[in-house]
Amino acid sequence: MNVHEYQAKEVLREFGIAVPEGLVATTPAEAEAAARALGTSVVVVKAQVHAGGRGKAGGVKLAKSPAEAKEVASEILGMTLHTPQTPPEGKLVRKVYVEAGSEIADELYLAVVVDRAEEKLAVIASTEGGMEIEEVAEKTPEKIVTETVDGNIGIQAYQIRKIGCALGLGAEQVKQLDALLGGLFRLFNEKDASIAEINPLVITKDGDLVALDAKINFDDNALYRHEDIAKLRDPEEEDERERAAHEIDLAYVGLDGNIGCMVNGAGLAMATLDMIQYCGGSPANFLDAGGGADKEKVKEAFKLILRDEKVKAILVNIFGGIVRCDLIAEGVVAAAGELGVEVPLVVRLQGTKAPEGRAILAESDLNITSAETLQEAGERAVAAAAGGA
Ligand code: GDP
Ligand code: MN
Repeated sequence: MNVHEYQAKEVLREFGIAVPEGLVATTPAEAEAAARALGTSVVVVKAQVHAGGRGKAGGVKLAKSPAEAKEVASEILGMTLHTPQTPPEGKLVRKVYVEAGSEIADELYLAVVVDRAEEKLAVIASTEGGMEIEEVAEKTPEKIVTETVDGNIGIQAYQIRKIGCALGLGAEQVKQLDALLGGLFRLFNEKDASIAEINPLVITKDGDLVALDAKINFDDNALYRHEDIAKLRDPEEEDERERAAHEIDLAYVGLDGNIGCMVNGAGLAMATLDMIQYCGGSPANFLDAGGGADKEKVKEAFKLILRDEKVKAILVNIFGGIVRCDLIAEGVVAAAGELGVEVPLVVRLQGTKAPEGRAILAESDLNITSAETLQEAGERAVAAAAGGA
């Protein structure tokens, strides 16, 4: 789960990491009042959306007075931000964070991530913090240092010195880095984070390390044990369809293609997406209907898939292990009939009672193509989406 910058900073603060003072505002008047309450000569008004790259897109602006903060907030609130991290339609800004301005001497990059290959955590650091870290990684990867950390032992003193050295820090700043990384690792472990990124981590004119931006991702599967984190969820930032799917217990992820997919089992769903690509097509979504897919579930899944106007064909790929293919076939026929599904349907049933299921599909007068192998299913779905079936 993703959270807003202001929420991530609240969590950083809880773990003793220095962040500027700030207040959330949803109207220009509130932004003006926030700037006045902060009382600093400069404030920064920052769009709060679940996406980075806001600075370059006009979502982060300095203001030198409360009146200017109001003006700047009126520009940012209600704007649709387009950054490399937003969906194609952009993100509507509903809140801004008004923050005490910092005097920046240098912008660094610091992150803790899970290194899956090493089965450890990793600290990633760079002197080239700010708004272009992706470009740094691409063009001058030597400017990024990675230090692998054993989660059971924790970060070691020599590793902190090594990172401090790579960042060009003085002795006093290395002490601050030590405290900061200690807090960040505690946060990571105690709150079950999966990414904690501070970009930029600035060195102020006074020589202090301050987290000027914060992105924290939390493991969804651990939210049940973090009530405080779970309530930071902002449904307005989530994909509408993914949220609807979540409510009816379907795992759905929207993608860019035109072949809607309904599959039972996450592994089979992934294999189905691969097969569609292999056959030259492009999937519109990932959808795991789960083990207990029944007619109602099939119907809800169809509804969800059809909310995506790009969908030109639907591929249903069900393996009958626990579920019976004949019941799925009845569900598909009933749901497609009731919903008046107009796009071509390609259905592959395998496993328990598959022949009975295929017979039910064959008897229906709906536009359904049956397939036996996964490759056949992929090829037929791609042809159907292209208008050839
Ligand atoms: P992002 O573009 O979404 O990553 O947003 P950031 O929070 O990282 O802000 C983008 C940039 O705005 C930073 O890299 C800084 O250069 C600048 N910025 C943010 N806060 C301040 C501030 O308090 N003072 C100054 N001078 N610049 C700031
Ligand atoms: Mn940033």
